[in-house]
Amino acid sequence: MDCIFCMIRDGKIPSSKVFENDKVLAFKDLHPQAKVHVLVIPKTHIASCDEISPLNSDCVKAVFEAIPEVAAGLGLDKGYRVVTNCGEHGCQSVKHLHFHILGGEQLADKMS
Ligand code: 5GP
Ligand code: ZN
Repeated sequence: MDCIFCMIRDGKIPSSKVFENDKVLAFKDLHPQAKVHVLVIPKTHIASCDEISPLNSDCVKAVFEAIPEVAAGLGLDKGYRVVTNCGEHGCQSVKHLHFHILGGEQLADKMS
């Protein structure tokens, strides 16, 4: 499958990993939009939020259970933002479900 994040998961494309367990991988975004910008992905390929169902939502649960650990590892004790983009209007560019963790500085209060 021609999916960048599956290739990162499989080690076919290098990445700066910050967290990994059996279901979840987190790595630094190539083009950071905040002082700290990390992507958290389920290892299972799910195309977007639109593809979440009772059949695969355990992957999403695993991502959200990992997020506090990822954030703590990044030293984000003052808080952070978790964002997922979905589809064209959401400006999703990589079609493998991922959650942006943004922080390390004061973020804008506007989200769009
Ligand atoms: P989206 O726009 O789909 O919500 O976010 C995709 C993110 O993936 C972007 O922030 C982009 O910088 C990041 N990205 C795209 N290709 C790569 C890559 O090969 N490696 C890493 N680490 N990040 C990538
Ligand atoms: Zn994928």
